[in-house]
Amino acid sequence: MTYREPARTTTRRIRIRRIRVAGLLVVIAAIAAALGSQLPASSSSTATSPTDVPRSEHRGLRSEHRGAPGAPGAPGERGALGEADGAVLDGTTVFDDEIRGVANLDPALLGALRQAATDAADDGVEFVVDSGWRSPEYQEKLLHEAVLKYGSEQEAARWVTTPSRSAHVSGDAVDIGPSGAAAWLSEHGAEYGLCQIYGNELWHYELRPEAIAHGCPSMYADPTHDPRMQQ
Ligand SMILES: [Zn+2]
Repeated sequence: MTYREPARTTTRRIRIRRIRVAGLLVVIAAIAAALGSQLPASSSSTATSPTDVPRSEHRGLRSEHRGAPGAPGAPGERGALGEADGAVLDGTTVFDDEIRGVANLDPALLGALRQAATDAADDGVEFVVDSGWRSPEYQEKLLHEAVLKYGSEQEAARWVTTPSRSAHVSGDAVDIGPSGAAAWLSEHGAEYGLCQIYGNELWHYELRPEAIAHGCPSMYADPTHDPRMQQ
């Protein structure tokens, strides 16, 4: 897990450059490629981490920046996905208003997350947003990648849903990492109305205001058991 610190430092540098020099996409792509090439090595050391699955999903998006325009498999300009689609950089927090993946979340969900993150910080736990709001295009891409990864639409549906059904696309869901933060939420989230919804996604939280008084509802084993996904 020691790789996180240098990665985060690099991320801050990327963010500053993105803000200051909007045109330096080539530099960003090079850094993203460098980051991406580090990930396979680091993921092997965290293979048992519950956040492995979403991180690998989002790695797919990052790798999108690697391909040169026009190269085989590379996106055209219109097909490229970035921050405007909800992609987040490593180390993004629930307080990062300038990141659309955070800013486009439902205000009530975001408020609860910020309260929880503030209290978690007192316990020495930092929340990182691995994914928040996503554009339909981003969701579609994640779904496409999941079908390739899991080999069938049926199996992919256990992890990634369609844009029209996704709580990420509607701004009602957030994936929180690292595993220590998810564990903190598992213990304290209900006090803020923040609930894990699916047994197989330890990082995926949605707002259930009634949980403050009554506790979180029982989880679905995975999204395919969620009635919202069967409409
Ligand atoms: Zn999620």
